[in-house]
Amino acid sequence: MSNSAIVGINWGDEGKGRMVDLMTEDYDVVVRYQGGGNAGHTVINEFGKFALHLLPSGIFRKGVVNILGNGVALDPENLWIEMQQVMDQGVALTPENLKISDRASLLLPWHRDLDELEEARLKDKKFGSTKQGIAPFYSDKYQKKTVLAGELFYPEELKAHLADLMEWKNLTLTKVYGAEAYTMEKLEQWIDEYCAKIKPYICDTGTFLRNAQKDGKNILFEAQLGSLRDLDYGIHPYTTSSNTTAAFAPIGSGLPSAKLDDVVGVVKAYSTCVGEGPFVCEMFGDEAEELRKAGFEYGAKTGRPRRVGPLDIVATRYGVEVQAATEIALTKLDVLSYMDKIPVCTHYLLDGEQIDDFPFPVALNKAKPVVEYFDGWKCDISGVRTWEDLPKAAQDYVMFIEKEIGCPITYVSVGPERDSIIIRK
Ligand code: GDP
Repeated sequence: MSNSAIVGINWGDEGKGRMVDLMTEDYDVVVRYQGGGNAGHTVINEFGKFALHLLPSGIFRKGVVNILGNGVALDPENLWIEMQQVMDQGVALTPENLKISDRASLLLPWHRDLDELEEARLKDKKFGSTKQGIAPFYSDKYQKKTVLAGELFYPEELKAHLADLMEWKNLTLTKVYGAEAYTMEKLEQWIDEYCAKIKPYICDTGTFLRNAQKDGKNILFEAQLGSLRDLDYGIHPYTTSSNTTAAFAPIGSGLPSAKLDDVVGVVKAYSTCVGEGPFVCEMFGDEAEELRKAGFEYGAKTGRPRRVGPLDIVATRYGVEVQAATEIALTKLDVLSYMDKIPVCTHYLLDGEQIDDFPFPVALNKAKPVVEYFDGWKCDISGVRTWEDLPKAAQDYVMFIEKEIGCPITYVSVGPERDSIIIRK
């Protein structure tokens, strides 16, 4: 039996979905343990191309059980829409291969409204939220002001619970933001239209996972976003509202006794960042546009152009440490093939001093990148499948990163397809 986590080392969008889709071959269970529909995992396989937001990326493998754990922001409306899209493309979703934790809290319709209203109030000080209601959801979860998915099995109690929450939430909606109040009719419609659809998949996934562990099953924990977006360890306040680190996997999955044998940290061969906040290595102008186009760096959920830059060694080393990564999957190396010289941010300058440790979030605003250049390889590497066949300049680039971040790079991805991978073990 082995327990592994696949996590993002940087700002998210590193290609985790692609790695989970590849690695699920060796796993019996895949669990999403945090986050919600605010980011997308892109997967390309025999069924087509998918931008998964809430569904675990193991959903395409026969025999793999996919779980949405108690730590996720369970949005019945978006989940049902996503389930329909996946089913329309020929993927079977049944209570056997998709299980939703009865202890997952429901993202309620007003969470999205509140996200939007607050970003509008903040104007130019906005956080750059995807407006999926994630921050209001997690705030309410910690105030114990949401309902659990399992409450759908207790309709009378659920209605009473929702009525209490609605009374409280309407105060904020109407008095703080001057927005429209919710009614029970509206909430009942939401229950019938969306919650009723996902209900057959809701069960006691904690017991299921404990039994899977006893039976020696291999469990893969799938994270969303990356280290620098972690609520506690990321670039506060430009983080997400959940813990994106591997250490949260046991809690958010529903298997608090789980010990992780392996943490695969996913690093992109260059940097990208969506939303606001300091991004020390950021490139601008034509250079940025060229990289954005080459890597097709537009958000999977929002279509927003991603901010881009060279690989940031300082941030990546920190990301590896907070994830306690045991191995690294380096993705999108093929995207850099057009470059004559490959830029890398090797250090930061802070108050005139060169530093290697990732600074306190506020100090990041003053940090400047120190950029060094590596020889490019200037040829198409997307068909390469072995380390030996990779051009020497590409090997040197990978080995430099490996040395600097102090963690073995065991996978090098050279394309979005499942088999576009060099395994280096
Ligand atoms: P995730 O949220 O970490 O799963 O990442 P995203 O899905 O947001 O972004 C990764 C994007 O890069 C997707 O469009 C993938 O299909 C694509 N991708 C992943 N690995 C590679 C790779 O090695 N090369 C190329 N060219 N694209 C890749």
